[in-house]
Amino acid sequence: MSNPSTNDPVSELAGLLRGRRTVVLTGAGCSTESGIPDYRGEGSRERAKNPMQWRSFRDDAVLRRRYWARAFVGWERFGRARPNEAHLALAELESRGAVRGIITQNVDRLHRAAGSKKVVELHGALAEVRCLGCGAFEDRDSVQRRLAEKNPGWLASTAELAPDGDAELGQDFERFVIVACQRCGGVIRPNVVFFGEGVPRPILESAWAVFDEADVLLVVGSSLAVFSGFRFVKKAASRAMPVGIVNRGETRGDPSARVLVDGRAGHVLPRLLTLLE
Ligand code: NAD
Repeated sequence: MSNPSTNDPVSELAGLLRGRRTVVLTGAGCSTESGIPDYRGEGSRERAKNPMQWRSFRDDAVLRRRYWARAFVGWERFGRARPNEAHLALAELESRGAVRGIITQNVDRLHRAAGSKKVVELHGALAEVRCLGCGAFEDRDSVQRRLAEKNPGWLASTAELAPDGDAELGQDFERFVIVACQRCGGVIRPNVVFFGEGVPRPILESAWAVFDEADVLLVVGSSLAVFSGFRFVKKAASRAMPVGIVNRGETRGDPSARVLVDGRAGHVLPRLLTLLE
């Protein structure tokens, strides 16, 4: 828990990280200031909806069509999101050698866009699409162009961006034409881990390799409600590895944290960067 003798938790966090090798675990809260909504932050109840489950996507062609219809609209904004001050500060901390790597639950690729080099994308990235049949990869922008050709005028409909690049549609998705794998004609999927799917083993192994190089864990913008992120806090606690958390509101990891900073990542991380100079 935070030391009550200091009034500035960010200075305290700097004290925790100084001279240590940091691994960072990020979640949706790291990207809200880039305009991508989270699931469990302030106001998310109003945005609440059921995220696509892996089995529904795989087994139900109607739901798959609905997914792509919404994703088609959502990508127009999601695909253009830019890194914010939090992403940039983390990239700078890595270039200085303080941050050893980032494990992210986000699927937006904004850490890479900010210049971070060692990034493990636990849940994949929406920028890639792959075929369920032959495994071929296609760039999401290319899929977007093909969808646009098949669905002229569709984007003119109004829609609100939802988490994970999805969107709420104001029109009938049954008229939406989906596209298939260019190589084999198979069903395509975004290269992300859906709810109900596990993190692929090689990805998890790379995440543990980054984790094992560090001696402090910094969580940024995650409620830690999802186990795939929470496991790193549990492991840190079991090793007596110190944990710092920067998040707006409570997280499931709070009882294990040495320092808690309740604040905006885009404000806190640049300050942290200055304090660590
Ligand atoms: P979450 O929505 O469960 O939690 C986000 C947390 O961040 C909340 O506690 C919220 O209060 C906090 N937050 C919001 N804005 C913040 C800010 N500016 N600074 C600091 N904290 C802020 O997110 P999660 O723990 O990452 O779990 C959600 C799952 O959904 C993840 O597995 C992820 O794959 C997926 N997701 C990804 C994105 C993305 O790629 N950007 C967006 C939404 C959801």
